[in-house]
Formats: sequence, C-alpha cells, structure tokens
Amino acid sequence: MFTADVPQDREREEEAVRRDEIAAGLAEVETRIAAACQAVGRDRGEVTLIAVTKTRPAEDVRILCELGVRDVGENRDQEAAPKARELADLPLTWHFVGQLQTNKVRSVVGYADVIHSVDRLRLVEAISKEAVRQGRTVGCLLQVALDDDPARGGARLGDVLALADEVALAEGVWLGGVMAVAPLGEEPAKAFAVLREVATRVQEQHPRATMVSAGMSEDLTEAVAYGATHVRIGTALLGRRKPFVR
Ligand SMILES: *Cc1c(COP(=O)(O)O)cnc(C)c1O
Repeated sequence: MFTADVPQDREREEEAVRRDEIAAGLAEVETRIAAACQAVGRDRGEVTLIAVTKTRPAEDVRILCELGVRDVGENRDQEAAPKARELADLPLTWHFVGQLQTNKVRSVVGYADVIHSVDRLRLVEAISKEAVRQGRTVGCLLQVALDDDPARGGARLGDVLALADEVALAEGVWLGGVMAVAPLGEEPAKAFAVLREVATRVQEQHPRATMVSAGMSEDLTEAVAYGATHVRIGTALLGRRKPFVR
C-alpha cells in the first residue's frame, strides 16, 4: 500500500489509462471509416487515416504509433517542429495541415512529408526553393477554398488548375492532389462533391495526383462517400481539445 503510491507507479498508471482511451478512440474511428467505405462500395484500403495531433503531447503520438497509426497531422509550426524533432525515431509520415506563412516554410520543410495547405504561387515557390536547398522532396496538396472566408485559406476554384501545373513543374516537390475543409454550418456533402469535381479535373492533367484530403471528426462519412483518400481526424481519436484551439 505504501509503495503502490510512488510517483512512477502513478505515472505508469496514467499512461496505461491514456493508452486505453486512445485505443478506444482509434477503434471507433476505424469502425466509422470501415462503415463509410462499405456504404459506398469502397475498399477500406483506399482511405488513409491521418491522426491530427495538434495541442496533444508527443506521448499521445507515440501511443498512436504503437497502435499502428503511421500518419500524423499538425497545423502550427511552433508546436509541430519540436514534436517532430522529439519523435524523429518513429516511422511516421508528417502532414502539415494548417495555413502556412512563407516565413515558416524553412522550418516546415524540415520535417513535413506532405503539406496540405498549398494555396498560392508564392508558397509553391518558397516550398520548392527550400526543399531543394534542404535536399528534401515534399508532397503538396492544393487546398481548395469552398467558401468565401479568406481566413480559412485555400485557393479559389478558378486558380486550382494553374496552381497544379506550377507544382508539377517545380523542383523538390510532388503534386499529391487536393485538400479542403468543409465550410462551417453547411451541408458537408455539397462541399465534398465540389472538391471531388476539382480533384477529377486536376487528375485529368496530372494522373498521379490522386490524393483527396477531406473529412474531419464530424464529417468523415460524407468525405469518404465523395472520394476522400485521406481523412484528418483529431477529436474523435484523442478527445476534445481546449476551447478556441482549432
Ligand atoms: C484540427 C484539424 C482537423 C481535425 O479536426 P477534428 O474535428 O478534431 O477531427 C482536420 N483538419 C484540419 C485542417 C485541422 O486544423
């Protein structure tokens, strides 16, 4: 009784509890993805789960990796850079899913394998230049704006094809496909249908750009129904974040 309460024991117990929580979240998300695929006759293997680990400690990412997750997403460089450094020993693919300022490109290119928020030519140029300088190859997804809120980022529909051509021509980067965030307070299926159209048009010009990054905790079913190849899931896996942190 006396020794059972030493700090290391309590820490180990807390870790075990957290592992169980995350395992339960993962099982539930897996079930939802599988059901969403089945509902539209897609193979489960067509959809990659990206665990969005923003605001979560590196230890959560380590647990996810032990549970078999290999793709993780972050949206702020200040947080992602030290986390990626701390977890450099893990076999993870790092996805940068947040809005990206050109002054952060040098840091982000240092650890990101895929950047989902490429939405303007200046950013393509900056990523390309930095990737070449660092001797890295970075995947670029074109973020498509599906509403008129500039704060949420994304290229306008009319600009996406030209941007795709620019990425395809640039050195140090490869064109992965497209990404979007469903507009707040609207039917997500409508937005994802538009994204699918855009994805199809990009693929007509760039057949290998097959990635469609769409769907979060609330709308993954609709995203899978409309062709998402990558779903970005935070809350449903890891629990609610503190308020006001997106
Ligand atoms: C936070 C975030 C997610 C995950 O959202 P949840 O609702 O927590 O699943 C997905 N995509 C982007 C771009 C995000 O910023």
